[in-house]
Amino acid sequence: MINYTERIALLMQDVVARTGRLSFINLEEVIVFARFGRSDAEGAFATCHCLTMPESEPGYFFWKDRETGELTRRSPWFVTKSPQVRVGQTTVKYLISFVLPRFCDQTLVGSRKADLYPSAEPWVAKLDTIVHELYHIDPGATGIRALENADGRRSYRSHGPMFYEDVSDMVRGYLATQPDPALYDFLRHDFACLSEMFDGVVGTTFSNFPSFPQRYMETVDLPASEPRVKLEPLKTPTQPVIYTEDDLHIRQFTECNSRRLTRKGRYCAA
Ligand SMILES: [Zn+2]
Repeated sequence: MINYTERIALLMQDVVARTGRLSFINLEEVIVFARFGRSDAEGAFATCHCLTMPESEPGYFFWKDRETGELTRRSPWFVTKSPQVRVGQTTVKYLISFVLPRFCDQTLVGSRKADLYPSAEPWVAKLDTIVHELYHIDPGATGIRALENADGRRSYRSHGPMFYEDVSDMVRGYLATQPDPALYDFLRHDFACLSEMFDGVVGTTFSNFPSFPQRYMETVDLPASEPRVKLEPLKTPTQPVIYTEDDLHIRQFTECNSRRLTRKGRYCAA
C-alpha cells in the first residue's frame, strides 16, 4: 500500500531543500497527517495547524436575559491553549493535514488555480497545495504567517493575491530545479488509480481520529466579578492535551471511509 502522508513528507523535504524561501523550515517539527473527506463533497484539501500560538487571555462565556439585558448565567474563567505534540525529544510546532481522498482527486482543470499555471499538467494543483501549506509556516517561528484566528478558523485576510502568486512562483521554481520525478510521480494519479496500483492508500492519523490535536479550553481560578450569577460549568475536555509518537496511527482510506490498520505502522518523521 502507498503511505500517502509519508510520500508528501518526503516530497516536502525536497521542496524545502530546493526553495530558498522555505529553507528555514525544520520538517522534524512538522507532522503530516491525513483526515477523511469525500471527493464529491465541498471542503478544504489541506490545512496548516499551528501548535505554537500562546495561551489566550482569560475569558468567559455569558448569557443575558433578552428583555432586561441582565446577566443570567456565566461560565468559569478559562484560557485556550495548544496541546503538546512530541515525537521522541522533538516538540512538534506545526501539523499539516491532507484530506483523503479529496486531495488526491484535485486537478487544475476548472479550478481557480488554473490561471496561475497556464500550461501545467493537472496534477500540479496538488503540488501547489503542498507548497501553499508550507508557506503558511511562519519564518519568525512565533506562530503563523497570518493564518488562523485563535479558534482555528481560517482567516481569509491572510490570503492576499500575492500569497497565491508567491506559491505558484515557488512551485514553478521547484520544478525548474529538475527534481527527481520519483518524488512527485504519486501526485499524477487520482485516488481510484492509486488504490488499484498500490492495493490501498494509507496515511498517518492521530489516536483520536477523526479528531487531532486542537486548541482546548482550560479553567483558570479567577474571582468572578458577579458572584451571584449562576455558574454554568465548562464541558469536561474529552481530547488529550499531550500527544506522543504512540498517538500516531496508520489508517487505510477508501472512497467513503477509513479504518485503522492493526499492524502498527512505523512512524516516519516528516
Ligand atoms: Zn492557506
